[in-house]
Amino acid sequence: MLNYHSVDYDPGNIVVITPEKLDEQMAFLSENGYNPLTLDDFFLILEGGLEPPEKPVLLTFDDGYADNYKYAMPIMTKYGFHATMFMSPGTIGQDWYVNWEQAKEMKEAGWDIQPHGMTHPHLPKLSAEEQANEIIEARKQIEEHLGGTADVFCYPYGEYNGDTLRILEENDFRFAFTIQQGRTDSSQHKFQLKRIYVNGEESFKTWKQRLTGK
Ligand SMILES: [Zn+2]
Repeated sequence: MLNYHSVDYDPGNIVVITPEKLDEQMAFLSENGYNPLTLDDFFLILEGGLEPPEKPVLLTFDDGYADNYKYAMPIMTKYGFHATMFMSPGTIGQDWYVNWEQAKEMKEAGWDIQPHGMTHPHLPKLSAEEQANEIIEARKQIEEHLGGTADVFCYPYGEYNGDTLRILEENDFRFAFTIQQGRTDSSQHKFQLKRIYVNGEESFKTWKQRLTGK
């Protein structure tokens, strides 16, 4: 599972990858038989209910940046790839972030849109009640605006505590993603799935090594 953030031009910022570099990476996936999955298929495979295709990969984009709509969506469409975006509905209305119309268009183009907290908080610094509001309200708003189920959580800053895990369990969340580095497999706790961080400043060669483990 690859973890991207912003797709734009911001030299020196490791959470930003240029559209050209993203395109180069997606071209590699396309030419080498990788299969970027929908979130549903990813979980069916993880749970053993679906045979994985050759070289399965899940492409995730955190934070719901408007540049994902502007740059990443056309690239995914070009290669016929699925991707998942984790957004914080509290950012709606700010220029840097997608609005509901853009999120809806992405969903229609084959993206899964899932919650990343209402305001991208440091969850362990909040009371259990505040955490529950951040998590449940984000899910509710995404479901109301985009339809479908938004029961896959991504921890802002990768941070969580015992309250967070209990809230996810009590509210029937299906899975949750961390920023712990590594490949995802079914031995990992469903609320502690690992991902591979893509540093936008790194070379293609380094990215390929992260992807293939070679
Ligand atoms: Zn984030």
